[in-house]
Amino acid sequence: MWVSSVWRAKLSPGRRAHSALAQLRGIVEGELEGIRGAGTWRSERVITSRQGPCIRVDGIPGGILNFCANNYLGLSSHPEVIQAGLQALEEFGAGLSSTRFICGTQSIHKNLEAKIARFHQREDAILYPSCFDANAGLFEALLTPEDAVLSDELNHASIIDGIRLCKAHKYRYRHLDMADLEAKLKEAQKHRLRLVATDGAFSMDGDIAPLQEICSLAARYGALVFVDECHATGFLGPTGRGTDELLGVTDQVTIINSTLGKALGGASGGYTTGPEPLIALLRQRSRPYLFSNSLPPAVVGCASKALDLLMEDNAIIQSIAAKTRRHGHRPWASSSGFTSATRDIQLCPQVPQ
Ligand code: PLP
Repeated sequence: MWVSSVWRAKLSPGRRAHSALAQLRGIVEGELEGIRGAGTWRSERVITSRQGPCIRVDGIPGGILNFCANNYLGLSSHPEVIQAGLQALEEFGAGLSSTRFICGTQSIHKNLEAKIARFHQREDAILYPSCFDANAGLFEALLTPEDAVLSDELNHASIIDGIRLCKAHKYRYRHLDMADLEAKLKEAQKHRLRLVATDGAFSMDGDIAPLQEICSLAARYGALVFVDECHATGFLGPTGRGTDELLGVTDQVTIINSTLGKALGGASGGYTTGPEPLIALLRQRSRPYLFSNSLPPAVVGCASKALDLLMEDNAIIQSIAAKTRRHGHRPWASSSGFTSATRDIQLCPQVPQ
């Protein structure tokens, strides 16, 4: 669309169209210059191999070690995961050319949703094209101007954007600050529902939300708890269920959003899991679910196999936990810059470029 209007503008003899394009170029080039000047330009390396601990990168001879993927369990290129993706592609095709509610729901989508709910010990689950979409689609569908949402100030961008889209009253509490959360919960007593929203594990600093304290404050002030588990699902907790399992509050967290694009095969996709009526409401009202294409079968097949591997056998999770303990407690890890706020967590803080 944009390209064709640019083309029309180029062809048009009208000077106004031409000058509008020139103005746009000037504005955008100024913005780009500003980003370069601020030293925050993001450049992308081009990988020419599969994802993994050792990858090939365009322009660099030989392989390089890769410490920055969220491929926590190494499942992105696991042979059984790839095989399951190929099989789903063969059996169910490249894609549905449809949203879920028009004609884009296959048996594999329903099976994966049931498996996700089982994995998290929740009543039901709903798939999204990404966790960004799950976060964008949750708050607006659930909360009204009568309600309130209380959000950690360092929550992921997609939670922030999702909250922006809803009409509930918004409270932002200081990062991990339980006194501030309590003050905001007291203030929010006047609203109908209160929803506390937090990342389970914060990828930028490698710290973990104090879910026990959050859940007990939520119980005291009549609030629900929502946790984004993108950097926890599959590997935190004794059986990899996530931060709620790690901190013993599985039954106190009401809603979990997470991704299939990190530990669970790394392809893409996200989900919400929680109480059955909430999931049913999301199927009716959640805009990124209603108005975006179904997850491709190959992606569903890969994620489903990743979950099977985790649910059949705890060996992968135990192995990553042992490696984390070994490296997290080694002086070389911090002296070479691979520090984590919590030594038993797999996250290394991401250093801005
Ligand atoms: N939430 C958190 C905490 C994340 O780190 C990310 C991805 O970086 C997302 C949500 C978005 O996940 P997805 O890549 O599935 O859109």
